[in-house]
Amino acid sequence: MNYGYLAYTDIPEDAVHLLPLGAVEPHGPHAPLVTDTLISIGVCHRAAKRLEGEIPVLVLPPVHYGVTRYAAGFKGTVSIGEDTLRSLVTEIAESVGRLILVNSHFEPEQVETLRSTGLPLLDLTRRRNAERLTEEFRSGSCHAGRYETSLVLAERPQLVHADRMRELEERHVDMPAAIRDGRTDFLAMGMDEAYCGAPGESSAEEGRETFETLAEMLVELIREVAS
Ligand SMILES: [Zn+2]
Repeated sequence: MNYGYLAYTDIPEDAVHLLPLGAVEPHGPHAPLVTDTLISIGVCHRAAKRLEGEIPVLVLPPVHYGVTRYAAGFKGTVSIGEDTLRSLVTEIAESVGRLILVNSHFEPEQVETLRSTGLPLLDLTRRRNAERLTEEFRSGSCHAGRYETSLVLAERPQLVHADRMRELEERHVDMPAAIRDGRTDFLAMGMDEAYCGAPGESSAEEGRETFETLAEMLVELIREVAS
């Protein structure tokens, strides 16, 4: 299912391709810069595995870089512009054929750019999808908190600094509301350590449960695209 690991002779004719997307940006003092991409990759692999024997699904090499301006005040932020992201994604789609975008970086400019391509998108910011996710995610405190950190703990626990994570205080920030108020960087939102929510309450178990929900949503989208 890993596109990049195949010999070209083994690529099926009628595959649905998944493109994991994320960002390179700070995720608190406890979680890795590529948290979002790791989450997207984890969802893609789980969905592809569920559809084995039913629909050929291939997971493309990920696009780690995204539109990441809110974190500009911190080390570790590597941002690209909207036009670059749009070109990259649309040109990849032209190369491979049937493609679904799987995104876990929710800065509005990132999401808008992906929507503007017209390609099928697993869009967790849509209400019908967000409703199926955890309370913290729905509260808008959705950066490097319990939701994202639990997913990384389920996928790559060695990349989480558990000692630092446990010491972090809960910080409730309604990011969508802050953005509507015109506070469009982490510092203005009160996120002076580049996280919000409650990372200290994260667990691999919650991460595994959330991955199952995310994989289910993606399986539904793949079936739509394949039919
Ligand atoms: Zn994130």
